[in-house]
Amino acid sequence: MKTEFNIAVFPGDGIGPEVVVEAIKILKIIESKLGLKIMLNEAPVGGAGYEATGHPLPDASLDIAKKSDGVLLGAVGGPKWETIDFSLRPERALLGLRSNLGLYANLRPARIFPALLDASTLKREVVEGLDLLVVRELTGGIYFGEPRGVVTNDKGERYGFNTLVYSESEIERISKVAFDVARKRNGKVCSVDKANVLEATGFWRDIVTGLHSQYSDIELSHMYVDNCAMQLVRNPKQFDVILTTNMFGDILSDEASMLTGSIGMLPSASLGEKYAMYEPIHGSAPDIAGKELANPLATILSVGMLFKYSLEKEEPNIWIEEAVEKVLGQGVRTADIMSDGMKQVGTKEMGDLVAAELEKIN
Ligand code: NAD
Repeated sequence: MKTEFNIAVFPGDGIGPEVVVEAIKILKIIESKLGLKIMLNEAPVGGAGYEATGHPLPDASLDIAKKSDGVLLGAVGGPKWETIDFSLRPERALLGLRSNLGLYANLRPARIFPALLDASTLKREVVEGLDLLVVRELTGGIYFGEPRGVVTNDKGERYGFNTLVYSESEIERISKVAFDVARKRNGKVCSVDKANVLEATGFWRDIVTGLHSQYSDIELSHMYVDNCAMQLVRNPKQFDVILTTNMFGDILSDEASMLTGSIGMLPSASLGEKYAMYEPIHGSAPDIAGKELANPLATILSVGMLFKYSLEKEEPNIWIEEAVEKVLGQGVRTADIMSDGMKQVGTKEMGDLVAAELEKIN
């Protein structure tokens, strides 16, 4: 069995480096518990990549990612780079990593920790027991479609445009991921589209329906994205696996994060045929960077997914979730999930407490 691994570590910008440091603490404890040897290869991406090399995704960083068994990413972006050319903005590093590594399947679990039931902005009875998974297509759709741009027409008026395009094979491979993962969960897939308005997503619906004939054990439903946005806050427990396009998945998973208490709680895995990347779903949160206010739990939970999907080790994910639940159960909270009667801690202290609980698990 393989015991030596290479992990690419891209802390990025803003709170990225702060949360990644805490996640690495957790990774190292598991490394020693399982007797593994994990080489961590750190490199700049995003604004940090731009500052170091003039490009948000330096070739050397991409190279490190391609030689890794998995990538751990913090977050990229910040006001400092908001005025530079689009092609050089930090966020281009994300799109570059996703497309260069072929990371077409983004898995975003939204599960509520019992200790956080009262941290959600929704009523306890609406979210208690919530456990859904958003399967978002990640390398196609309107975020990648060509043509795109801002141009001036012959009447001198400027206009902006993007293209929503999906091929049959792109829809089939992401649908397969959703159906396969639903088999290991509660056997339900809800495909979300806007088939009543957008031809490309009507096509999406047809292809998903066609593939479903190979998955007769899975219950398939379809929902328009506007209805899904509403249902997520009305009755989120109706969902098991939500299968959707790149842009709809981006928006719906941020919405789903709030069901669990905070965007600082949601991990993600981006998977392709050959490579994989793990990151919290949140951004670089420049408003709280450097203030010890960032919740590191989403990144810590992403490490659990890394062990599960890339290193093929199931237990660490369970251990990490257990350690997080224990710490939250002790009434410890970062600012974003703080409520009356709880003890507020900073980013580092939260990481230390989870690490201490993890050490105790045999
Ligand atoms: P954001 O996710 O960074 O922040 C949204 C809000 O959530 C902010 O109020 C922030 O303080 C809070 N928040 C986020 N993560 C938190 C955490 N771990 N703990 C506590 N609070 C947290 O989104 P934004 O403000 O729209 O974007 C900021 C920058 O991040 C932009 O440059 C954007 O492009 C970039 N971004 C990057 C990624 C990524 O790297 N994957 C994703 C989204 C946005």
